Amino acid sequence: MVSLRRRREARAPAAPDSLDAARRARELAALADGEAVDVLVVGGGIVGAWAALDAATRGLSVALVERGDLAQGTSRWSSKLAHGGLRYLAHGDVGVAWESARERAILMDVSAPHLIRPLPFLIPLGGPVGRAAGAKLHVGIHLGDALRAAAGTSRRRLPSARRVSAEEARRLAPGLSDRQLRGAILHWDAQVEDDARLVLAVARSAAAHGARILTYVSAERLRGDGATVRDVHGTAAADGAFELRARHVINATGVWAGELSGGAVRLRPSKGSHLLVPAAALGDPRAAVNAPLADDATRFVFAVPRPDGLVMIGITDEPFDGPIPDVPHVDAEEEAFLLSSIGRVLERTPTPADVVGRFAGLRPLLAGEATEDAATADLSRRHAVVEHDGVVTVVGGKLTTARRMAQDALDRIAARAGEDRPGACVTDRIRLAGADRPQGDLAAQLRFAVAHELALKPEDLLDRRTRLGLVPAWREQALEAAHEALAGAAQAT
Ligand SMILES: Cc1cc2nc3c(=O)[nH]c(=O)nc-3n(C[C@H](O)[C@H](O)[C@H](O)COP(=O)(O)OP(=O)(O)OC[C@H]3O[C@@H](n4cnc5c(N)ncnc54)[C@H](O)[C@@H]3O)c2cc1C
Repeated sequence: MVSLRRRREARAPAAPDSLDAARRARELAALADGEAVDVLVVGGGIVGAWAALDAATRGLSVALVERGDLAQGTSRWSSKLAHGGLRYLAHGDVGVAWESARERAILMDVSAPHLIRPLPFLIPLGGPVGRAAGAKLHVGIHLGDALRAAAGTSRRRLPSARRVSAEEARRLAPGLSDRQLRGAILHWDAQVEDDARLVLAVARSAAAHGARILTYVSAERLRGDGATVRDVHGTAAADGAFELRARHVINATGVWAGELSGGAVRLRPSKGSHLLVPAAALGDPRAAVNAPLADDATRFVFAVPRPDGLVMIGITDEPFDGPIPDVPHVDAEEEAFLLSSIGRVLERTPTPADVVGRFAGLRPLLAGEATEDAATADLSRRHAVVEHDGVVTVVGGKLTTARRMAQDALDRIAARAGEDRPGACVTDRIRLAGADRPQGDLAAQLRFAVAHELALKPEDLLDRRTRLGLVPAWREQALEAAHEALAGAAQAT
């Protein structure tokens, strides 16, 4: 069995960070032939990717298996915000708020400055937000500011919150209604350019430290010393199934974690839906706008401008029962709720005809933190590391805090090893792959994704390496280019 005795310093990357079909086939074949690893990570979302990077940079040998593509699950359906944890303060969850502020600082300053940018938010005052609610919001915003400073994020990175006049608010978001507008609170948070791309950057960084990143490999049964896995793309054994041997197994399958934990982990998934509308339909805002809900002025629907000329309107938070679908859908009721809620603070309420794209995801929230009939919006976004039958399951949390979740899971494994411990966590000091290299035009991006990012199908390119698939019309326009990029690579080999 592979020894866990390793140096405590992070090594420099020793392998290329390029992922392609040939590397996948080679590494998968070696594992199918019986090669064992120190750590098997199951799940290629943001948590699994960070777990692979954490383990590899502690000097452990790692395989990550993902039954679809990287970021196939919830990690591509997020609101793409690296939250400082403001809304957790409203729930009195200072621990989660502090962790969020700290992880946001690491993402912005160290790991992924190329994928994270500051984003101004406006909370209009007046109309739906009366003076009492406004005063309460001021207190929360200033506490959030104190956490920002304590976490080490400078004012140059994320300016302090301040009150602005109605005129300034409308300059930043011209679609705002001036009915009863007394001004606005302007505060700043961080926006992730693209969540799927963040997963990819973490996975490629793990690959650069030797992790085997194996997409389209499904884990069917987990044990403390490995898993039965199946190659669902090609075949590594006669029927694609083989026993993958590992000294430790991490279950990072998000909203599906309960299925693989044999009932040891109970989740209470909640569905969150978003709509995409052209920025022009909302007056081309330069700042995100928060609209308070009709029944609770401290909770909001937001309209967030994106770098691609769209505005994302979100988000719902409703308990989701029943089997977990691969792709959750936005229903008409949610769409009507989001449009009417944001319309409360706008000159013109957007209509279904403005909506050019929709997406929904399921939050992997932990059950047992509230009574069964409590709203999922009130469930904590805390994460948990749970051991069962020798397997370590890490679940809950957020895109923003996934690095910390992975660290906690690997610390649990390190604690098992006693004297023979792997090195300490170093992921809070690692710059992710791509942080020093800007992307080119679309065709180049697609070719790059085929050559280096393990894109094997047109949908990998359109739905996760780029996010063109979010708008059906864009998807259709780019489909041919995606086929060409894949065909070009096939001819070259
Ligand atoms: C609508 C919505 C908005 C959100 N917005 C934000 C936000 O703005 N900011 C923020 O910080 N957080 C946000 N979150 C939370 C965040 O997106 C999630 O907490 C996070 O993405 C979960 O990541 P994960 O890796 O645990 O799960 P996933 O991304 O779901 O990854 C799990 C992976 O496991 C794979 N898998 C499942 N079963 C198997 C198997 N048997 N074998 C192999 N692989 C398997 C799946 O295919 C999947 O890719 C949001 C969540 C939702 C739903």
